[in-house]
Amino acid sequence: DRLVSPHVSDEEQILEGSLRPRRLAEYIGQEKIKENLGILLEAARRRNEPVDHVLLYGPPGLGKTTLCNIIAAEMGVNLKTTAGPAIEHAGDLASILTSLQPGEVLFIDEVHRLSRAVEERLYSAMEDFALDVVIGKGPSARSLRLSLPPFTVVGATTRVGSLTAPLRDRFGAIYRMEYYDIDSLRMIVQRSASILKVPANDEGISEIASRARGTPRIVNRLLKRVRDYAQVRADGVITREVAQKALNAMEVDEIGLDLTDRNMLLTIINKFNGGPVGLDTLAASTSEDSETIEDVYEPYLLQLGFIARTPRGRVAMRAAYDHLNLTPPGGESG
Ligand code: ATP
Repeated sequence: DRLVSPHVSDEEQILEGSLRPRRLAEYIGQEKIKENLGILLEAARRRNEPVDHVLLYGPPGLGKTTLCNIIAAEMGVNLKTTAGPAIEHAGDLASILTSLQPGEVLFIDEVHRLSRAVEERLYSAMEDFALDVVIGKGPSARSLRLSLPPFTVVGATTRVGSLTAPLRDRFGAIYRMEYYDIDSLRMIVQRSASILKVPANDEGISEIASRARGTPRIVNRLLKRVRDYAQVRADGVITREVAQKALNAMEVDEIGLDLTDRNMLLTIINKFNGGPVGLDTLAASTSEDSETIEDVYEPYLLQLGFIARTPRGRVAMRAAYDHLNLTPPGGESG
């Protein structure tokens, strides 16, 4: 697996808990969201009501699950977790919703992947805390409206554009997660290093932060791999040199790109003259899945300004040529 994949590995699933911030005050970065969410939570607490439904969207690994846990913790309520593809039938949804206690938070990951039938049931549940169930079949079938205790849905998605308008409209607060800036990433490495009791100096910390693609999950993973290297090949302390050597050996370059990213950029540049190249063609030429390219690889390259999306496909930008030490068509590399 890629060292810089923003997806959680099985090993991390178990260990992630210890590094996860529990309260809003511990949550580093995403200042705008923190401020708005803080007000939303405080207002709900003062009115003694459940929090309005919240939609979190943005690339994987930025802390959506963490934030959802924080919402429940700050409100002092339980959290139930599910995911869009896991709720197959309207009946599955009914059994989840009827098991909720008043005020509880229901986290629906990959909320854009709910089936149509389930999604339509969810509308009235979110809006009126009511669930319409059909009893019986054929001419004797009748519809019954069950009332539910008030609760909060927190939806998370990497693809807000795939959400239907009626579902999106049912969320009272919609927050877009941004890639973390370097200062926030440094603070996250510092915090994780102190929890894991890994000695690291400021320069070592900065080196890890700058190769983590703006993503807390990746920063924590790089920290663990550099710690291994420091223990085996050095005296255990993470310095700039140790971090550089460790990450170079793992082929993660100074801005966090790995072989997969470089291969994708080189494909656009060499095979397609810099583009534009359509997503499916690019996927076929790199043997990657087009959804993975769109959700996982591309967002960071777009953020860096290395590629652009045009109506005719993906185009490699000047910054990509510069980073790869190549000359862009019709220009000197600077
Ligand atoms: P996915 O979309 O893949 O489910 P996610 O966006 O839900 O990912 P999380 O699982 O919440 O991401 O976060 C990944 C890890 O990053 C967490 O275990 C936590 O240790 C760390 N993390 C996330 N956000 C922060 C933060 N703001 N401050 C400190 N650590 C964070």
